[in-house]
Amino acid sequence: MVWLASRNDGKVAEFAQLLAHAQIRVKPLPNDAGTAPETGTSFEANAVQKALYYGDRVDGWVLSDDSGLCVEGLSGQPGVYSARFAGEFADDEANNRKLLTLMEDIPTAERTASFVCVLALWHRGLDAPVVARGEVHGSILRGPSGTDGFGYDPLFVPNGFNQSFAELSMSEKNLLSHRTVAVHRLLHELGGDMLADLRRE
Ligand code: IMP
Repeated sequence: MVWLASRNDGKVAEFAQLLAHAQIRVKPLPNDAGTAPETGTSFEANAVQKALYYGDRVDGWVLSDDSGLCVEGLSGQPGVYSARFAGEFADDEANNRKLLTLMEDIPTAERTASFVCVLALWHRGLDAPVVARGEVHGSILRGPSGTDGFGYDPLFVPNGFNQSFAELSMSEKNLLSHRTVAVHRLLHELGGDMLADLRRE
């Protein structure tokens, strides 16, 4: 079992489904675990910061992630600021609107972007967190399409598809998402002893 260091229900649901395939059960953080600071300027720094913070507050394994959307034509923005792109308390709709406005003059062929996810797995017995990165490449639409998913899903079409992430089912998205790639890489990094421990209740 691993504590999942995220308060985002969309992400918790996706990780639960992904890790169930590896026979690892996830649990949302207890309410009294506080809220980790997120002051890094890279996905790696933020994921490690969150894993260490919650690792001090719960017993056992902690899996944290930091993720976001990087748009090439905007020099990688919104990047680590994806969740609060339009302001500290901005909702998904406001973030999406800001992104579309900034990209108004970017031609269709140049609207390339990637979703990035960095995972940090931590246990107080380790020397350092195990870190893994996943990316999925695609492009940004001129307006929202689809109602499923969360965040920038209605604007992002993965390469090789005609539908946005918000038009795909969670299972379809989970076949190719940045989180999927990162989870696979992380599991690949782990030794058999670590995996066995993670699979214990
Ligand atoms: P974090 O919780 O600090 O990692 O912020 C992640 C933010 O990136 C989310 O609030 C979304 O805005 C965006 N994001 C990350 N992954 C996805 C995804 O799979 N779909 C849509 N938006 C995402």
